[in-house]
Amino acid sequence: MKTPLIGICRHRLDTDGQGVTTLVAFHGCPLRCQYCLNAQCLRKDGVWRQMTVQEILDEVMVDDLYFKATNGGITFGGGEPLLRSDEIVDFCKQRPMEWRIYVETSLNVELRAVEAVAPYIDHYYIDVKDMNPDIYRRYTSLDNNRVQENLQWLADHIDLDKVTIRLPHIPGYNTADDISQSQQQLEAMGFKDFDSFEYIIPNEAR
Ligand code: SF4
Repeated sequence: MKTPLIGICRHRLDTDGQGVTTLVAFHGCPLRCQYCLNAQCLRKDGVWRQMTVQEILDEVMVDDLYFKATNGGITFGGGEPLLRSDEIVDFCKQRPMEWRIYVETSLNVELRAVEAVAPYIDHYYIDVKDMNPDIYRRYTSLDNNRVQENLQWLADHIDLDKVTIRLPHIPGYNTADDISQSQQQLEAMGFKDFDSFEYIIPNEAR
């Protein structure tokens, strides 16, 4: 079965993962963030290529030596990569075991997708956006019930040293106080590593 991608980006150094990584970016996302910088993944005509898992493996294999020499590997992003959890599991079973696997996700997916990939993920970068359900809904057009459920599942089942939580300042949607409240809520669940930064507003959203 072919999976739609928006791109494969090679030779990233210490970006969302250790060592040299290749980003495999999937098309499609359940959210509609107001300042989405990856709108290509939402548009029907935004598909770069349709590839099988074997074709993705063949394509990224060219950097096998870099991955092994630097403790690097593959970062799955998008779009929302966990919409493609079956393909990620398939990929991880076949890749050289030395490759590390990273995922950038909003976690707004079914729990079964999180459970399926968990045995293979070395580090998660979770774009929580904001824990406040009203802010989240206003910004993304969806509620964050599944995000909260999936965060709790991770807190109960994995080593939280493997998680970086992204808590952006989203101009016009949340404040420094909101970010601080989100962080406190997440710390109470056991999360320890936070990345706070300012969202860049695309020109068309200004
Ligand atoms: S989660 Fe990311 S890709 Fe999806 S709509 Fe939001 S910014 Fe865009």
